[in-house]
Amino acid sequence: MQTLKSFLSGSWQTGADPQTDLHNATTGDVIAQTSTRGLDLDAALAYGRKVGGPALRSLTFAQRGEILGKLASVIVTHRDQLLDLSLQNMGTTRGDGKFDVDGASGTLAYYAKLGQGLGERTWLADGDQVQFSRSKRFVGQHIWSPRRGIAVHINAFNFPAWNLCEKLACAVLAGMPVLAKPGTATALVSVRLVELWQEAGVLPDGALQLLVGSAGDLLSHLGPQDCVVFTGSGSTAQQIRSHPQVLRYNVPVNIEADSINATVLGPDIEPGSDVWTMFLAEVAREITQKAGQKCTAIRRIVVPAAVADEVQAELVARLQDARVGDPGTAGTTVGPVAGPAQHRDVVAGLQQLASHAQVVWQATGVPAQGCFAPTTLFRSDAGAAAEFVHDHEVFGPAATLLPFAGSAEQAVEIVARAGGCLATSVFSDDAAWAGEVVLGVAPYSGRVYWGSSKVFDQGTGHGAVMPALVHGGPGKAGGGEELGGERGLRFYWQRTAIQGDTQLLRALVG
Ligand code: NAP
Repeated sequence: MQTLKSFLSGSWQTGADPQTDLHNATTGDVIAQTSTRGLDLDAALAYGRKVGGPALRSLTFAQRGEILGKLASVIVTHRDQLLDLSLQNMGTTRGDGKFDVDGASGTLAYYAKLGQGLGERTWLADGDQVQFSRSKRFVGQHIWSPRRGIAVHINAFNFPAWNLCEKLACAVLAGMPVLAKPGTATALVSVRLVELWQEAGVLPDGALQLLVGSAGDLLSHLGPQDCVVFTGSGSTAQQIRSHPQVLRYNVPVNIEADSINATVLGPDIEPGSDVWTMFLAEVAREITQKAGQKCTAIRRIVVPAAVADEVQAELVARLQDARVGDPGTAGTTVGPVAGPAQHRDVVAGLQQLASHAQVVWQATGVPAQGCFAPTTLFRSDAGAAAEFVHDHEVFGPAATLLPFAGSAEQAVEIVARAGGCLATSVFSDDAAWAGEVVLGVAPYSGRVYWGSSKVFDQGTGHGAVMPALVHGGPGKAGGGEELGGERGLRFYWQRTAIQGDTQLLRALVG
């Protein structure tokens, strides 16, 4: 059995026993183990600050971008190996594995290009000079410069490649070194990625470290120039936000957490129309892709009551077409959830949801061995008053139909009830009705996806995170924001207002 190592302070290190097991999600067998016990995390953070930080800050945006481009190329070159590991560790079908691995290389490539565009500078001005008195000589200028600490990236289990890379791309381009901690259950892909990057010698020393296993006392060693970027559950987010060291130094924390995303079908959409078909395809994909383990997946399907039965029947037909089974077998479209712990959570969540909403369809013949969860469609006619449906994210292949009377106001009320989402979609050609819904749900959503007949065959999908657009959501979704092109770099920078002689400031800013 493989014992995974952490890459800290410039070398691969093994933690002391006892070890934590990693499983093959399809069979349930233990395939690897890891521990972080006894590893010197204080030294690792110091190493990143002292060695990786200066190395990255000495590079221009274009040079940092070049590094990101090389990281992306390494992934592309070793794509099949990474997809195999993803299948082995977390039971992804090839399509689901590609969503993670190609998303990782695509995001790195996007930020590589952004780095080229930012060019030969090492930091940025923010806006123009500001004149605040009668004097034209004494002015102000805002600048962004990289923080001098280390960025701690704590990732969830569901995207071991993409989650690592989307955070890394922004930090490296911004000029900050990283210590990344993948979700332990599915760490094999992240470990292999860092091994491959090390072998390729692409990153400056200290620019990226990897902690494989429990976070241990990591957060106790944070300093005032460090920052934390977290993806995972709301309960862990709370622990991180309230950590004494985070509070002591006001360490910036960006959180992406639970999100009970919704989709809304407009009353103008006729059964059988292009948008109707687009809507159903989108919902079916969101329930089944990655066995529903996507932070952006649709959990609530808000449909006009007049067509709710028709939506239900067509959706069930599509879900029946999905083939659950061994993800390594051709034709399988839904694999297991990522591991035994995730399986326990999903099964418990499905049981709880079943006591608050009606089960209208559940997959049968799901393998008993391994970590398979039955794809399940629920329905509640209680709208915004439905209990549990709006409060608890079942992180697996399940969603709930929520019929509504058809008013924009009511649709907004139902979406808002979850207290903040990463992504909400609206399917309608009615500019006035949909406009009201889009603007109404916007304060509760990080991203709103508007499907309509002119784009029915062009959309990128409700659940796909695009590096050029922000990813994050208010309230329950964590209140964070990642990506969004250059916006994603700002978390790693300090904005400073500098006051002085207009000519001197002009010389500084260039
Ligand atoms: P989790 O249990 O909160 O774990 C997330 C990460 O935090 C893991 O790396 C975990 O390490 C680490 N962790 C746990 N306790 C910690 C502590 N006290 N201090 C520091 N780190 C700690 O969540 P998960 O089960 O991996 O992920 C599932 C959840 O993430 C779902 O609820 C989903 O909504 C959410 N999610 C959100 C997004 C988004 O973008 N908003 C994306 C994906 C997932 P170990 O693995 O070693 O326990």
